[in-house]
Amino acid sequence: MRILVVEDEHKIANAIKRGLEQHAYAVDAVYDGDEGLAMATTEPYDLIILDRMLPGKVDGLGILKELRTAKIHTPVLLLTAKDRVLDRTEGLNAGADDYLGKPFAFIELLARVRALLRRTNTKTAVTVLAYEDLELDPQAMTAARAGKDIRLTAKEFALLEYFMRHAEQVLTKETLMQHVWNYDADILPNTIEVYVGYLRNKVDKPFTGPNLIHNRRGFGYYLGKE
Ligand code: CA
Repeated sequence: MRILVVEDEHKIANAIKRGLEQHAYAVDAVYDGDEGLAMATTEPYDLIILDRMLPGKVDGLGILKELRTAKIHTPVLLLTAKDRVLDRTEGLNAGADDYLGKPFAFIELLARVRALLRRTNTKTAVTVLAYEDLELDPQAMTAARAGKDIRLTAKEFALLEYFMRHAEQVLTKETLMQHVWNYDADILPNTIEVYVGYLRNKVDKPFTGPNLIHNRRGFGYYLGKE
């Protein structure tokens, strides 16, 4: 799952980025309103964390309004230093899905991020994702097949999570790249193939059950039954 962080306080922005990356999210951080608006409207994010007060031609509320006017319904968590009722109402009226007053504990931010991602996709309403005999727990960051633990790197985990949240849908390489890797990641043309190969080696190869990760030639990859 890919997240955009728009926050002009570099320390906070980078702490959020690092913290979320440790939980296998792909994160881009930008530090002013103009760049935030440009990224939010051109890249396909699963969630946007938006500071309310930002330098530039648009602030957080401005970005939010532009997004909703453009019919981009990516969930937005608004960060606000002001915690007055008026400000919250203003943010929610502008189309924010949730807000968090500063200062906040990272664990609370993480809980809200998870809740928002759950809310926007019915398949994620359960805490443990399952497909056939394959299970993945995004909170504990564990995966298992037929009850046997599968050890995955953070990137393999993120890729498998994305496949499981979109089970039985053919996903193009571009889609996988955009949702599992961040903007400045070093991506080579065969990076996706390489990682899908790693996953197959861990998720399909060692098990007697049917293969779950497939290639639809010329289209992309999918998790499903043959
Ligand atoms: Ca700010």
